Amino acid sequence: MAEYRADLLIMGSGPAGYTAGIYAARAGIDALVVAGSQKGGQLTLSSEVENYPGFVRPLSGYQLMEQMQEQAKLQGVHTIDDEITEVDFFDYPFVCNSTGGNCYISKSIIIATGASVKWLGLASEQKYIGHGVSSCATCDGFFYRGKEVAVIGGGNSALEEALYLTNFVDKVYVVHRRHSFRAEHVLKQRLYQNRKITVLWDSEVEEVLGTDKPLEVTGLKIHHVKTDKVRYLDVSGVFVAIGHHPNTELFRRYLKLDSGGYIVTKSDGCSTDIRGIFAAGDVCNPYRQAVIAAACGAKAALEAIKFL
Ligand code: NDP
Repeated sequence: MAEYRADLLIMGSGPAGYTAGIYAARAGIDALVVAGSQKGGQLTLSSEVENYPGFVRPLSGYQLMEQMQEQAKLQGVHTIDDEITEVDFFDYPFVCNSTGGNCYISKSIIIATGASVKWLGLASEQKYIGHGVSSCATCDGFFYRGKEVAVIGGGNSALEEALYLTNFVDKVYVVHRRHSFRAEHVLKQRLYQNRKITVLWDSEVEEVLGTDKPLEVTGLKIHHVKTDKVRYLDVSGVFVAIGHHPNTELFRRYLKLDSGGYIVTKSDGCSTDIRGIFAAGDVCNPYRQAVIAAACGAKAALEAIKFL
């Protein structure tokens, strides 16, 4: 157990966290990044990033985050592999405790803890997580080579997951509860042109089906919301891609959250109701874009520098 003191503590090591660190370090601020449970953040799970400016050829999310981490390190940002589990924003300087048993005392804080996957909430889904139910095609797609799988959802994440899975599987069913996607045009075009993908519109998953010994998924029970008909789909894998929720529970006692759980910020988009505490990235906006998170991180750092 150690005690760390910093001018600026940055919680989270995604694009928002590292960008904040880079800006703070360049301003001569003693900035400390506490990486969180997933070093590099959610982007490390993205197979390809095509829309981050400055990279002509697509690169993996992992590669992009490696670059950011290296850049932050070269600028003098110190990153610790630890996760904050307790905060006290009532006292000043602010005090945070971690899973590693460490205590962090800081004059200012940038919260960049990102977002986590949403699940459908079915008991059968929970039963098979890690045994055929997944939220990450990049991590688990490989295991379904030559098989048939389903992706649940109709946003950018679902379509990206479905397209990525076609690299391995024979067939992908996209199961969506409505009759139109909210994903962007280019992804829809790619999806419709891919012969391995079939879309099941107006369809909701009622149950994930499978065996106990071994614990594995064998199919889905699907309900058509317009005809009320039930159909069974034989699939070995189910990829849930129905969105994310911000990782803000830790701060509920101290900061105003909106109905979606996002931290409410002032008109600058990063200052909170507590002076010296700032938010950046997916904790305070729903865009889930690396470039937006990075920009928020830069802005939060500039505001923290002003505060300090
Ligand atoms: P979204 O919120 O955009 O989409 C979630 C999808 O899941 C919707 O189609 C929604 O249905 C469906 N859904 C939600 N809850 C349920 C449920 N309980 N049961 C069944 N279906 C459900 O989330 P995404 O993660 O796709 O995207 C979030 C943000 O991140 C967006 O702003 C997106 O643009 C961005 N993003 C961008 C990427 C990129 O630029 N390449 C990649 C990934 C994400 P319905 O449509 O009916 O509401």
